[in-house]
Amino acid sequence: MTSMVNRDNHPCFNIAAKGTCARVHLPVAPNCNIKCNYCNRKYDCVNESRPGVSSAVLSPDRAVTYLEEVVKSLPETTVAGIAGPGDAFAEPERTLETLRLVRQRFPHMILCLATNGLNVVEYANDLAQLDVSHVTITVNAVDPAIGAQIYSWVRHRKIVYRKERAAELLLERQLLTIEALKQQGILIKVNTIIIPGINDHHAFEVSKAMAKLGVDIQNCMPMHPNQGTPFQDIPEPSVETMHALRRETQTIIPQMTHCTRCRADAAGILDHDRSAEFRGCMKTCSQNPGPDAPSKPFVAVATLEGALVNQHLGEAYRFQIWEQSSSEYNLVEERTAPEPGGGDNRWRELAETLKDCRAVLVSGIGERPRRFLLERDIIPVEMNGFIRRGLDAVYNGSNVAALKARRKGTAGAACCSGQGGGCG
Ligand code: SF4
Ligand code: SF4
Repeated sequence: MTSMVNRDNHPCFNIAAKGTCARVHLPVAPNCNIKCNYCNRKYDCVNESRPGVSSAVLSPDRAVTYLEEVVKSLPETTVAGIAGPGDAFAEPERTLETLRLVRQRFPHMILCLATNGLNVVEYANDLAQLDVSHVTITVNAVDPAIGAQIYSWVRHRKIVYRKERAAELLLERQLLTIEALKQQGILIKVNTIIIPGINDHHAFEVSKAMAKLGVDIQNCMPMHPNQGTPFQDIPEPSVETMHALRRETQTIIPQMTHCTRCRADAAGILDHDRSAEFRGCMKTCSQNPGPDAPSKPFVAVATLEGALVNQHLGEAYRFQIWEQSSSEYNLVEERTAPEPGGGDNRWRELAETLKDCRAVLVSGIGERPRRFLLERDIIPVEMNGFIRRGLDAVYNGSNVAALKARRKGTAGAACCSGQGGGCG
């Protein structure tokens, strides 16, 4: 495919572009698949400017509407990126769908994303197909013994890992990801969060390993001590420490020295952030029904008795169909689900059955059906609890992540909504 993108116009990868090219972060990824001990994400903290913080979470189609509005006011926007507020690949479909929609609407836009790298390698080809040209991966340690001090847990394919095994798995997957993305010709920036007493003495080792893999640039970022996290009492590294560390690591890999530690909903030129100006626009976009809304007036619900969302998509043999009228919700009808078996045809048929629904509320869902539904612009909302709360979340834009179902045996590990900081 012939790229229409000018890769030089990324202000984070190319310092020469920092005064002229603007970037917009699209906060479409609310959940995370690992837990960093410095992370504390808060959606509504307007006073904080750091990774992990966002005023709202957008659905993929709403993200494009928001981007259209931003570009009208900021025509110098050259980059659309996904940087959380969780991890871009904790729910890969949301991210890929957003990238697909943005690419369709803005063929010249640089597409970029930031991730912890745990769940990316399988999607390297998809990213290349979408002409994603810049990826940032946060690598804080190349020694699992050090990584084990940084990560509380890592969740991969529904299994939660802890201690050194968690750090080892994360590192393995990060290295594979970097290799796969480099093979696709994607530019890689590695962020390394410098945590005094934990990995500050180890940063040079990280730089060496990254240089060996052909990483294009490294961004050593001082850790921000976030309240309510295990690292809240570790002081931020001093400016002198960071200068010395960058001088040392610069000898083996180019260093980014102009990072402004942006929010997950940042917008504007790096030195002139305008995200506060677009906050209202983002909230409106996150709450209004999308352009598809008139043709998708309904929400499907997997429920046993009609009060709670309590069925996995795969076990539901029928779906209740709800609609909003004025401030009320009405049960419109029930629709029978396709028979189990039949592989992908079952999910194709289900997507057809629910094609006038903008979302489906379920207690759980597998990766294959999720993909089929998203392809038809039906957003799967995984949750436990009252149907009404799920309907509020879909129709009125309240926090869907707060309803997220918690799986048995992984207490505290289902998602890290409300935690945060560090995916820049
Ligand atoms: Fe996830 Fe927070 Fe770590 Fe980013 S900083 S990878 S959001 S836990
Ligand atoms: Fe660029 Fe740093 Fe902002 Fe990420 S956090 S967009 S690397 S300036």
